[in-house]
Amino acid sequence: MKLNSSLVWLRRDLRVFDHAALSQALQNSALVHCVFIYDSTILAGLPRRDRRVDFIHASIAEVAQELRQLGGHLIVRHADPATEIPALAAELGVDAVYCNHDYEPQAIARDDAVGRALQADGRRFFSCKDQVVFEKSEVLSQTGGVFSVYTPYKNAWLKKLEADPSVLAPWQVEPYAAHLAPPPPGDAALPTLAELGFEPSNLAELKIPTGMSGAAALFEDFLPRLAGYKQARDFPAVKGPSYLSMHLRFGTLSVRHLVRTVLDLTARGAGGEGAAVWLAELIWREFYAMILFHNPHVVGGAYKPAYDAIQWETGPEADELFATWCEGRTGYPLVDAAMAQLNRTGYMHNRLRMVSACFLIKDLGIDWRRGEAYFALHLNDFDLASNNGGWQWASSSGCDAQPYFRIFNPVTQSEKFDSEGKFIRRYLPALKDLGDKEIHAPWLVPRMLPLDYPEPIVMHDEARKRTLERYAVVKKI
Ligand code: FAD
Repeated sequence: MKLNSSLVWLRRDLRVFDHAALSQALQNSALVHCVFIYDSTILAGLPRRDRRVDFIHASIAEVAQELRQLGGHLIVRHADPATEIPALAAELGVDAVYCNHDYEPQAIARDDAVGRALQADGRRFFSCKDQVVFEKSEVLSQTGGVFSVYTPYKNAWLKKLEADPSVLAPWQVEPYAAHLAPPPPGDAALPTLAELGFEPSNLAELKIPTGMSGAAALFEDFLPRLAGYKQARDFPAVKGPSYLSMHLRFGTLSVRHLVRTVLDLTARGAGGEGAAVWLAELIWREFYAMILFHNPHVVGGAYKPAYDAIQWETGPEADELFATWCEGRTGYPLVDAAMAQLNRTGYMHNRLRMVSACFLIKDLGIDWRRGEAYFALHLNDFDLASNNGGWQWASSSGCDAQPYFRIFNPVTQSEKFDSEGKFIRRYLPALKDLGDKEIHAPWLVPRMLPLDYPEPIVMHDEARKRTLERYAVVKKI
């Protein structure tokens, strides 16, 4: 099939290499335009300083520059894409619009509407797999069912990849770059943050690398740590994980490239124990994307509906407990340091996401959806599928979740994973002079002068009993 011209709509795939939609559009069309739309319906609900908007803004500048170097250009708009894409397609007179699949229910509904509008105008709409290696129903159980447990899913995922490693082949862009539509005369400048209604966040101060170059630099930095990932990943004071989640979220890198690199290193005996463990994390990401696609009811409800019967704490006291958690004033140092990390940087270490989520749900008795929404607003890497999956795991309501009676003890977690209190001291300077043993539960240490740090808002052992009672309803159903 050959098209005269098409439009590539970039969304969570902010790069110009190994890009399924861009590559396929270039291979099938004589002329290809590219567009990114700042979605006014999403931006309207965000605070005026938002690290994600800053990140997108910087990453888009790099995409625009890279496209120019290849002879093309990037159209950038600030609008509702549901109407803007069909309008732009008409303005440019293209035959088709290309994009990459998005698996979130709202995005699927939006894309359906865009597809219908384009079709009504006599244009075609193509969507490609790009964000994940395997999607939707590509990995099924032997009986053809959708997996609900991670380990058999992972095994089937690995088997499928072994059977067809060609799915990792890069979607080339450069060899077809001659098809990129050149910049029009008087090409408009990219909108500034202020024009979008935003102010700079602390992204630059935090030195969070942006764009394709930032993703590549972070991955390079991580590779020497890959072999030791299995040991290092659980300790928040240690530079163990890759910190690539924001880049995976916005597609400034290709997941195929990550998996290819890990497999190459493993084949050369250079991946150590860490390579398989890290690959397993990338597969968790695909597992949750698949779960969301097949179970859109998880947005707003428990994966296992029986868990919707649980009565959570409500009212002013519960609101105060929730505020205490959000602001990192619970009196449990590891939880408070975790929340300080989130509030200041937009990142939270995976171990701490589990501990702080479990604390909100099982120590404070607050509905997991409130915590999920708080993370959604503050996480740089917020991804509906992974965030929802993580919260449902912590609340025991999800697929393959921790059993409801497994309740993390925030003090023993702290002693185990931040034994010297290094992470806690980094985020809670009020505790910097406490010893390595006392820093995990400061209220237990008799002292002459009061600490500038709150007493615990609940006692874990009592909260644990209340949680077991609260969850008893699940057993009765
Ligand atoms: P690494 O350890 O280097 O892992 C590599 C990549 O694998 C990550 O970048 C991520 O894409 C993926 N990954 C790792 N762990 C998981 C996991 N448990 N589930 C799904 N994917 C995973 N991850 C998000 O990307 N967005 C979220 O909104 C999000 N919310 C979470 C909420 C809760 C309550 C919990 C428990 C986990 C959540 N996670 C989320 C998963 C995980 O915590 C982050 O992906 C990880 O901490 C990101 O750091 P990293 O890039 O250094 O990870």
